[in-house]
Amino acid sequence: MSPAAEGTRTGDFVLRGGRIIDPGQGVDGPLDLHVQDGRIAALLTPGAAMDGANDYDVSGAIVAPGLVDLHGHWYEGSPWGIDPLISLRGGVTTPCDAGTTGYENFGAFRRTIIDRSEVRVLAFLHIGSLGCASMLAGELEDFRYVRVPETIETILANRDTIVGVKARLGRGPCGPNVMAALEAALEAAAGGGVPLMVHVSGGADLRAVLPRLRAGDVVTHTFIGDDGGLIFGGGDRLLPEVLDARRRGVVFDVGHGCGSFSWEIYHRAQDQGFGFDTISTDLHRLSVEGPVFDMLTTMSKFLHTGSSIPDIVAASTWHPAAVIGRKHELGTLAPGRRADVAVFGIEPGAFVFHDAFGRTERANRRFVPLMTVNGGIVVRPDEVNVELRPYTSGDRAVGCGAPLMESAG
Ligand SMILES: [Zn+2]
Repeated sequence: MSPAAEGTRTGDFVLRGGRIIDPGQGVDGPLDLHVQDGRIAALLTPGAAMDGANDYDVSGAIVAPGLVDLHGHWYEGSPWGIDPLISLRGGVTTPCDAGTTGYENFGAFRRTIIDRSEVRVLAFLHIGSLGCASMLAGELEDFRYVRVPETIETILANRDTIVGVKARLGRGPCGPNVMAALEAALEAAAGGGVPLMVHVSGGADLRAVLPRLRAGDVVTHTFIGDDGGLIFGGGDRLLPEVLDARRRGVVFDVGHGCGSFSWEIYHRAQDQGFGFDTISTDLHRLSVEGPVFDMLTTMSKFLHTGSSIPDIVAASTWHPAAVIGRKHELGTLAPGRRADVAVFGIEPGAFVFHDAFGRTERANRRFVPLMTVNGGIVVRPDEVNVELRPYTSGDRAVGCGAPLMESAG
């Protein structure tokens, strides 16, 4: 039995005393939650008797649908990848892989990780045939790695698991091929009938990229600080293309990562009335030990900057479920659904939150994980044992990740 399953409890139980926030059903209030045989049985009036069910006291906690993290890296055949089981420490029951593999290595990802993991992993398929295969060179610098028909074929053969196409657009991943990569990825997404998620980083000109995106396509790393802030085009005001894209239904995702969230850019966007649609971590080997750590820490940064708790929950459950076309099964506590539940508290104290550009902010509260219910199985944070691969000197060359940067002095 794997570490996450040891000491877990299943069956028939009620989470009592919490505040249930379920944006998909428009529910926010003190309710108890009945789970039976791995499914949500009912939302109950507080204190309602339930014969034969065990009680868990979750007084004072927030009880939300299992979190859907739209952007992480879960294939350890890539140096970026980490074990997706780690998601269960902090309420994430649907970690989505953001293009760690492409059509040539997705099969191995599926056989060795996705089909074997206790946590449900979904995936965006990279337009580069090997995904993010190495930290040392851009995966789209050599365009021979791009094959649209094979990418579409793989999507269509794996529609239960593949929820979109991914392209990393920027001078690092693409060299001179930014716009060619975008067009190939759009063609593959259209052929597969799925949304496209674009990573944007230095060298991606959003004035050219955004008008090409369709409603439902996703921009991740929205608040990156590269080139003076991509959503500002290096100027002071949000690009008109950004506002137009939002009006057209393009989704703006956080995708924090080790190099992609700037306090300064976020605050400036906020001042101009522009926030996130979805919150995601971009969790990978170089962000998991800081500055990201996990989904609840990322969500805490937006609690600190004044977002409401229901808005934060919606951006971490119902909205990402909509992006990947899974509202019928994910992101809500509606009766009959698979029992995926995140239970977390709000801890007062003095906390320092890092962005990915060396700036910190002090906060006086944060979300803390208490319990994850994964398909009806209760998992406590300390029951999840995950091994991270050791760092290599090659990791240091990437210039990313708080522990590496700090140790480099
Ligand atoms: Zn990523």
